[in-house]
Amino acid sequence: MSVTAEVLDCPRCSSAGAIQNGRCQVCDKPVAAPLRFEDVIDELRLIAALAGVDDREGREAVVHACARAESLLMALRDQFRSDVIGVGRQT
Ligand SMILES: [Zn+2]
Repeated sequence: MSVTAEVLDCPRCSSAGAIQNGRCQVCDKPVAAPLRFEDVIDELRLIAALAGVDDREGREAVVHACARAESLLMALRDQFRSDVIGVGRQT
């Protein structure tokens, strides 16, 4: 199974069309492209692991991880809508 050079919006910095070959051209962060539900599940597992860290850094890390998970979910939702609309619209 090959990965195509699909262009997507960055789930981390929200730059439109910035993801090329699995990397954001703006914030230079690697992103799995296309996004998968597993990416969100990984973030949720990280949040669960961080929940046991009871100090200021741990709490801040949870806040940042939640923000990343939210961004991933929004990007995944947009990707899903795009895929569904793209496939469903044949007039
Ligand atoms: Zn980015």
